[in-house]
Amino acid sequence: MDRLRSPRPELDDLVPYEARDIRADVVLSANENPHNLPGELLEKLADRVRSDIAFNRYPDPLATHLRTMIAEANGLDAGNVLVGNGGDEIILDVVLAWGGPGRSLVDLPPTFAMYGIDAHMTGTEIIEVPRLADFDVDGEALMRAIEERDPDIIVVSNPNNPTGTMAPETLLIDVLAATDALVLVDEAYFEFSRQTMRPHMERNPNLAILRTFSKAFSLAGLRAGYLLANPEVIRELTKVRQPYSVNRFTQVAASLAFRERMVFEAGVRDTIRVRDRLLHGLANLPGIEIFPTEANYVLFRVAQASSVWRDLLHDHSVLVRDVSRTPGLEDCLRVTVGSDEEIEKFLSAMDEIMASKRASEHFGLNATASRHMTKDGE
Ligand code: PMP
Repeated sequence: MDRLRSPRPELDDLVPYEARDIRADVVLSANENPHNLPGELLEKLADRVRSDIAFNRYPDPLATHLRTMIAEANGLDAGNVLVGNGGDEIILDVVLAWGGPGRSLVDLPPTFAMYGIDAHMTGTEIIEVPRLADFDVDGEALMRAIEERDPDIIVVSNPNNPTGTMAPETLLIDVLAATDALVLVDEAYFEFSRQTMRPHMERNPNLAILRTFSKAFSLAGLRAGYLLANPEVIRELTKVRQPYSVNRFTQVAASLAFRERMVFEAGVRDTIRVRDRLLHGLANLPGIEIFPTEANYVLFRVAQASSVWRDLLHDHSVLVRDVSRTPGLEDCLRVTVGSDEEIEKFLSAMDEIMASKRASEHFGLNATASRHMTKDGE
């Protein structure tokens, strides 16, 4: 056969998520932890690899050791916890189980792209409730959508990626009370915001909370995330999930990191300190608008954002995320809070780029002025 049948038509409008692998000296584009696992944890992990990881055996499908530890730390039972191959896998599981043809998901754009992508590819209708100009959730419109459209899933990224905004707890309480839809509160950046909906789980069987090992815990490369939810939710998700998605090595590494999570506390405090330095540095650059953030990244607006993004990469080898083509984020870039040195490099690169923009604008004005003068002189 010299032809290939088309895949499902839903895929026509989709583009692969961030398929490009762009190299740079300073990578501030994916909200990762700037530091690898601390040395003592790497040592312990190496010991475990040498002594007792049976790579020839399938992993425990439910990562029992890890889920029990996570449950205990959150005052829950193991049945309230699902571990996945990163938060991404769990988001897909939620959409597979609660979405699908004839069902709908409320999305609050601009927000994390995967909710919309997963809804789209599973034939789940997307009900968009756009955020307000300052990126706050439009509470009235959300409550109206719940009443009028009766959605099956509502997803709130909290803090919101890429804007850094938190939805008020009171609004989320109202949402939970107004619907029996599954309300997925994505707390991927919880360790930085230090705010959680966990206390509301007992009263709301429809609340599910997503967390990840990819940010504060330095494990983005190993893929581990977890969901806290009512056991009924977890049971349904185990019907759709890939049974062996969290491999043995990841289970051991994530368990070590979680057991020794106090080690990461200094890194979180450091990130919050460097974030202040980053916000302050950006605020001092003319022509830049910054948005408040509760996470380990900062969204800012700058004229000709894509050309600034290119200058950062090509002239300074600094990679940030260009989100300026996303509706509502025109002229916006997102920068991850890296190490002190990385942020100094980013800020000095921005300083140079903005100065040269100002100079060329000034030159542009002068060129116009001198043309006028010549004309006047004639
Ligand atoms: N939710 C949000 C809001 C995120 O920003 C991310 C990572 N970019 C994820 C979930 C998924 O993270 P991971 O799959 O690495 O756990």
